[in-house]
Amino acid sequence: QKLRKIVVMGSKSVGKSTLTLQFVENFFAESYYPTIENTYRKTIKYKGQEYDCEILDTAGQDEYTILNARYAVGVHGYVLVYSIASRASFEMTKVVHDKVLAFFGTNWVPVVLVGNKTDLHNQREVTFDEAKELAQSWNCHVIESSAKNNENIAKIFDMMIMQIEKS
Ligand code: GDP
Ligand code: MG
Repeated sequence: QKLRKIVVMGSKSVGKSTLTLQFVENFFAESYYPTIENTYRKTIKYKGQEYDCEILDTAGQDEYTILNARYAVGVHGYVLVYSIASRASFEMTKVVHDKVLAFFGTNWVPVVLVGNKTDLHNQREVTFDEAKELAQSWNCHVIESSAKNNENIAKIFDMMIMQIEKS
């Protein structure tokens, strides 16, 4: 079995913990203590191969957060989450992406950009076109999800494995 380390990053309250718990433990956590950071393990089957995934749900970043080495050393891929109802959180994914690239000193890392909370479509501030454009500039994948409705959550991690295997 192949071990793959995945880190989930993004602004506070975009749904990082909710989508991680939804994926790993199949439930919607209505509220989850925002500063809790946790590592989860789950086996993902992709193209007949089993991947033993270690998923680190981080406590949330802002522009002043210095990239913790624990979020980078030995890490294979990043799930960068924003809320479609928060432009500021979308902007934050760019800051985080820049910090990750700077840490590794490269111009590409496996990333899945995730626009979460699609169920809040009435409050949408970020279009999917913008997200696609950003992901394209990173040469990475993008998807929109609702952790609340368990929409596209498993797909995020399939895309992550696909990206990692490409690298
Ligand atoms: P984190 O700080 O990024 O880990 O965010 P949390 O997972 O703790 O979620 C913050 C809040 O957003 C919680 O009240 C969640 O229930 C809520 N939330 C998470 N995902 C969704 C979603 O897809 N839709 C809606 N409407 N709320 C969500
Ligand atoms: Mg959290």
